Amino acid sequence: MSAQPEHKIPVGISACLTGEKVRYNGGHKQSRYCLDVLQDCFEFKLFCPEVAAGLGVPREPIRLVGLAGELPRALGTNDPDMDATDDLLSVGTRFAEQNTALRGFILMKGSPSCGMERVKVYHPNGMPNTADQGLFVRALRQVNPVLPLEEEARMNDAVLRENFIVRVFAYDDWKTSVEPEPSYHAIIQFHSRQKYLLMAHHYEGYRELGRYLADAHDQPLAEVMQHYLLRFMHHLSCKANRKTHTNVLMHLLGYLKKEIDSDCKQELIDAIEQYRQGHVHLVVPLALLKHYIKRYGSDYIRAQTYLNPHPHELGLRNYI
Ligand code: SF4
Repeated sequence: MSAQPEHKIPVGISACLTGEKVRYNGGHKQSRYCLDVLQDCFEFKLFCPEVAAGLGVPREPIRLVGLAGELPRALGTNDPDMDATDDLLSVGTRFAEQNTALRGFILMKGSPSCGMERVKVYHPNGMPNTADQGLFVRALRQVNPVLPLEEEARMNDAVLRENFIVRVFAYDDWKTSVEPEPSYHAIIQFHSRQKYLLMAHHYEGYRELGRYLADAHDQPLAEVMQHYLLRFMHHLSCKANRKTHTNVLMHLLGYLKKEIDSDCKQELIDAIEQYRQGHVHLVVPLALLKHYIKRYGSDYIRAQTYLNPHPHELGLRNYI
């Protein structure tokens, strides 16, 4: 996979994050990061579920109401007889079914429609009670459980930001290289180039999927595709950390042992150790490693998406 997207990747976004004045009060929550940085690689598909559900702008604000363990309902904050639950669930389902090309969705936090998690749910007596996901997100997840989702506010955290963008690009790789002409061979090729990226995010998951594919030829292809992608995207959503990245860096170094002299090898080991101890960011040992892999690495190791999981212009590995 190339580090540079040859096309902009289609990603959904809560419309208010782009500056559209679609909030209940006629305002917006524009995100400069989405517009100034991510828009260079993502083709945004704007969507406001509450407007799509016909609630209008401005509108009666809604909130989630219910008891723990029950599906909360989206009711008017001032007029609890106004119930938008079914409309929001059905616009979410329809949106997800009609937009299967999307590789991810960036959401507005805290919204009873767009919030990904920790959205306040009020007890019918009016007191804050528990927390849940927004109703639009619930429908999105039901139709497409592998779609990468993230809240814009959580992307202030460098690790969460990198994790989301890694998932979007990996999902794009699957959509462009496996789905158009599905085969066992295409899945194994995908797994092979994603191997070290997966290892950095979930070591056991990497082993689990390797074992699964070894025996998968006996099973129907459609089932294998569905199972593999579900597990792959699930494992990739686990956060990589300094320990897991260090493990992958040492594995990659192992491929160069016979190709580089002991001074170069020591230089790489020192850079990896500095990263492990938190003195430098991931970009430091990786830049050195990539330099040697480019010169001396095999085709197999040069093809690893771990080396370039997203465009380096985003600078994501300068902060983790
Ligand atoms: S959070 Fe979602 S429902 Fe609310 S204004 Fe933004 S896009 Fe619309």
